[in-house]
Amino acid sequence: MEHLRKEYPNGKVAVDDFNLQVDRGEFIAFIGTSGSGKTTTMRMINRMLDQTSGTIKIDGEDISKMDPVKLRRSIGYVIQNIGLMPHMTIQENIEIVPKLLGWSKEKRNTQAHKMIELAQLPDDMLQRYPGELSGGQQQRIGVVRALAADQDIILLDEPFGALDPITRESLQALVKRLQEDLGKTFIFVTHDMDEALHLATRVVIMSRGKQVQVDTPENILRHPANQFVTNLIGEERLIRAQPNILTVSQIMLDHPASIRPDETLKDAIDRMHDRRVDTLLVVNDQNVLQGFVDLNDINRIADVTTPIKSFTNREVFYVQADSLIGDTVDRILKQGVKNVPVVDSEKRLVGIVTRTALVDIVYDALKGAPESDHQPASPINADIHATATKEGGDSQQ
Ligand code: ADP
Ligand code: MG
Repeated sequence: MEHLRKEYPNGKVAVDDFNLQVDRGEFIAFIGTSGSGKTTTMRMINRMLDQTSGTIKIDGEDISKMDPVKLRRSIGYVIQNIGLMPHMTIQENIEIVPKLLGWSKEKRNTQAHKMIELAQLPDDMLQRYPGELSGGQQQRIGVVRALAADQDIILLDEPFGALDPITRESLQALVKRLQEDLGKTFIFVTHDMDEALHLATRVVIMSRGKQVQVDTPENILRHPANQFVTNLIGEERLIRAQPNILTVSQIMLDHPASIRPDETLKDAIDRMHDRRVDTLLVVNDQNVLQGFVDLNDINRIADVTTPIKSFTNREVFYVQADSLIGDTVDRILKQGVKNVPVVDSEKRLVGIVTRTALVDIVYDALKGAPESDHQPASPINADIHATATKEGGDSQQ
């Protein structure tokens, strides 16, 4: 695709100076905000739409010079709402394009059986009607139907958008396997970043009709082109992708503000003031984490001589210093807490991970990850320990 542009009759420029060279057997995923021109681009590839300017070539041949009907039959197309004909059996549905191409009845029949096997569905399902199948089964048929005429290029426009996550995962596995086994070229539109990163050999990130970044999933994670891409990827995935930062101990802050169980409310107020924090971690004489106290507790207790141990929150989320970042970061972020205490294998307090530290990693990723000379500690325990089910984590601000 060279300098591809699509301006709709109403003046809307849906695709602007789009350039992409796709090699045979690639799996390209388009991802971007709604209305960024993904569907328009797909529809130009099979000439359901004609571009305003620019060229599309397949094997060096300009498609605007090809017969559009012939072209369309040579390209498989899968859409979100499946598009199976309800009054036709599954077999008839699979045979639509082979029939249009004039294949013999026998060859079509053989192909239908082969396709249902590829879809990993029972052979007798060929005689059923779409309405008798689940949404996931129908979409399996939708996918193999696009392959039935042995097309080299398959376009899939948000094919799994309407499916539940489990069905979606099994369909992703099917698509990935088919693409790899059959060596066909897949161009796939999705709004699910995990899906794009998991399936694609290259990802095309679209915004307002333009390609913002085109690269392998790995490079996009390592070097997002700009803030738009960063936001699209999400901070969690970026942190996971940082190769040099492996364990919690590499990003934790030392000397978190703490207090002992026998100290008093007055001590807590003074320490919070000195350290400018609104939470103190409670540790015993062996520095073992007991819980935390925060400003909310302090406000509801009148007597400043009250010992800390009588109002310690014992339900506290914590992580181990040698936990892998990749295994804990999503859980830290999802807890919605600003800070998480870090302990050693004896549950002794050794540091604190702040949300700010995690966000800093994202900024480093943006600048192009600097080489780190930290050596990773041995990743023994990757578990974040949650002893709380209620608000233990949330109230720890
Ligand atoms: P995406 O698939 O990325 O969500 P589309 O390619 O469907 O985006 O649409 C790109 C832009 O073109 C959108 O702003 C959309 O509203 C506009 N658009 C799509 N189809 C038409 C049309 N037939 N006439 C005018 N504008 C259109
Ligand atoms: Mg679309």
